[in-house]
Amino acid sequence: MAHLKTERTLVIVKPDGVQRSLVGEIIKRHENVGLKLVAIKMVTAEPTHVEQHYTLDPEWRRVTGEKTIAGYREKGMTPPSEDPYEITAAILEGLKKYMVAGPIVVMVWEGAHAVKIVRKLVGSTEPLGSAPGTIRGDYVLDSYQMADTDKRAVRNLIHASGSPAEAEAEIKHWFTPEDLISYRRMQDAIVYSPELDNYLGEG
Ligand code: ADP
Ligand code: MG
Repeated sequence: MAHLKTERTLVIVKPDGVQRSLVGEIIKRHENVGLKLVAIKMVTAEPTHVEQHYTLDPEWRRVTGEKTIAGYREKGMTPPSEDPYEITAAILEGLKKYMVAGPIVVMVWEGAHAVKIVRKLVGSTEPLGSAPGTIRGDYVLDSYQMADTDKRAVRNLIHASGSPAEAEAEIKHWFTPEDLISYRRMQDAIVYSPELDNYLGEG
């Protein structure tokens, strides 16, 4: 089995993230935690490519619909529909407009527990509830209620894969194998090597 430190995840700075000049800040937060950038490109997406991206996971329609219904219930509110598939059909239409509104920056980050670590940095889907300190919690204030009222996707700056299986499929969807660069970084030794060198004394 591959070493945990080779886990990879896909991150997309969505059009609102690019428009808000947050590309540098978002990259910085991933670098700060110790993850390694192994691929990056700026593109304009096609609506069909966006739809395929979100439906790579056959469960996405159900899970995202249920998450939205639960989000409304937690606030004592009535969801726009009781049918998770009806909810995600509308979300998907919104996403096909949102994700093609301007350039996006697509990246692959590598490191131990990359998927979970990035989800932690990014914060929960609905910015209204995203914890302070997370990217969504610190930089955006949208909600399901606002998005659904205005019949559009929730604007939450960033996409990050939800599981290692999702990451693998998404990375293939956006990059060819040649786009992914394997390289060593000086700092990897201090993060990962089982035995540390002795750093005391003169160099
Ligand atoms: P995440 O991006 O956190 O993995 P999901 O995979 O559940 O979230 O949903 C994908 C994207 O669809 C979200 O990031 C958001 O932009 C949009 N979205 C999710 N739920 C809703 C909703 N109820 N209304 C509008 N847009 C939504
Ligand atoms: Mg998701």
